[in-house]
Amino acid sequence: MGQYFTKETLRRLRNEVLISEIIQVLDIPSKTRDGYLRFLCPFCNEFMTACHPKTNLARCFRCERNFNPIDLVMVVKGLCFQEAVRFLLDYEKKAQEGGKNAE
Ligand SMILES: [Zn+2]
Repeated sequence: MGQYFTKETLRRLRNEVLISEIIQVLDIPSKTRDGYLRFLCPFCNEFMTACHPKTNLARCFRCERNFNPIDLVMVVKGLCFQEAVRFLLDYEKKAQEGGKNAE
């Protein structure tokens, strides 16, 4: 098992692993308001946040930070980049085995 992940793998994790799912997987408190999924920011513990399905980014307006799925796993689970990528690959695998996603 190498430490190297292809650009394609990283692109897929950033774009195709839904940020809203990762928020659930990580057990981050969240709520939907005004049509946006708001999550408890792991840095400031405020709900001044929103998830943008189009960009697949979670943003905290207070910290002025964007989180992609890899960032969020790193921050919440305290993992390094490599570990966070492996966590997401694992999650992806389980999700594929578990539910039969159409496609
Ligand atoms: Zn914040």
